[in-house]
Amino acid sequence: MNTKIHIIIIEDEKNICNFMATTLSTQGYKISTASNGKNGLSLVTSVCPDLILLDLGLPDIDGIRIIREIRTWASIPIIVISARTQEQEKVLALDSGADDYITKPFGPAELMARIRTALRHGSRLNTGSLLALRAYQADGLVINFEKHLITLNGEDIHLTQVEYKIVSLLAQNSGRVMTYDSIISNVWGPYADDNNRILRVNMANIRRKLEKNPAEPHYIFTEIGIGYRMLEDNFVDGKTSDHQD
Ligand code: CA
Repeated sequence: MNTKIHIIIIEDEKNICNFMATTLSTQGYKISTASNGKNGLSLVTSVCPDLILLDLGLPDIDGIRIIREIRTWASIPIIVISARTQEQEKVLALDSGADDYITKPFGPAELMARIRTALRHGSRLNTGSLLALRAYQADGLVINFEKHLITLNGEDIHLTQVEYKIVSLLAQNSGRVMTYDSIISNVWGPYADDNNRILRVNMANIRRKLEKNPAEPHYIFTEIGIGYRMLEDNFVDGKTSDHQD
């Protein structure tokens, strides 16, 4: 089978749109573009793409509304393209169902990495619970979700129950940003206080246990004003490389 992965770009800035279209076509993706929300939505409905790149600041429809509209009927991965000053909008976009975001200006490598992660995560969800139980492995860190065991370079890491919940949630979404609110409601429940302090305290403890240098984390990164992103695991095309054990 040689069907190209189809990506729709909804972006009104011509330069950025052309840059993304060129980069992605060169990489073998099939690209369709729309320069406003109305055309974007009808394109999404008619071709049902594998992934959507969506600018939040469109001339006609608010990007957040577009995400919510698409999420009423499809789980196609959506990566939001936003300006550096739009922290609140990014959070809102993620909490409305976007999978990830990329901040302007960005280069081809970052764009490709975000797309690979989003596509991979989308296909992982479709394959159901078996894969969710597959161990996370990245750079010497192994998380066995069935046994609730974490090892770092073969040594057991002892986490509290809450710390384990946070780490396993991030690991099951590795490579993607998780907002503070989504982590808090996943770990402490939907009625939890949305104050981030308790999360930050737990993260400081987690980093002391996991990171060689907690000030420059290697496994769990902070996305300032947004949330956390865990180093993507080395899961490739349905197989985990087993050179670790
Ligand atoms: Ca724009």
